Amino acid sequence: MNNIFIDKLKKDSQEKIIDSVEIEELGIKNEKELIFKTPIEVNAIIYKANEELIINLNLKFSIEMPCKICNEFIEKKIKVKNLYITERLKNIKIFYDLKEEIKNVCFLQIPDFVECKNSCKERQNIKKYLKKKQNFPFSNLRSKNGSTKM
Ligand SMILES: [Zn+2]
Repeated sequence: MNNIFIDKLKKDSQEKIIDSVEIEELGIKNEKELIFKTPIEVNAIIYKANEELIINLNLKFSIEMPCKICNEFIEKKIKVKNLYITERLKNIKIFYDLKEEIKNVCFLQIPDFVECKNSCKERQNIKKYLKKKQNFPFSNLRSKNGSTKM
């Protein structure tokens, strides 16, 4: 992916970037508990307006992380839609490093933890366990309409 040379960007025109970027190119390395399964799909529109560089960013990628309950690795698709980034033109020297920005956005979108299909199988076991614990003596005195027999 090329850098954005702001002098090349003409007024009243926009540059469109549609690219698929390998994580290595972004300086991202897979970790033990965070694996990027796909390259980062980038769809961006870049233009100048009012002394600012404006970037409309859309990203799509897939990661794998261990489920917080059972530890099994699960895949999570991540989408960033219509994110607007602005930068004052006078703060940009020669070119704008879109790769660095994409890297930051990717990490911001990665959840702190994941769970199998939003509900881990093993969570069911925990639920059962909790229900059993809630069977206190006298709890069966409550009748169906909610009133309590004396
Ligand atoms: Zn799980």
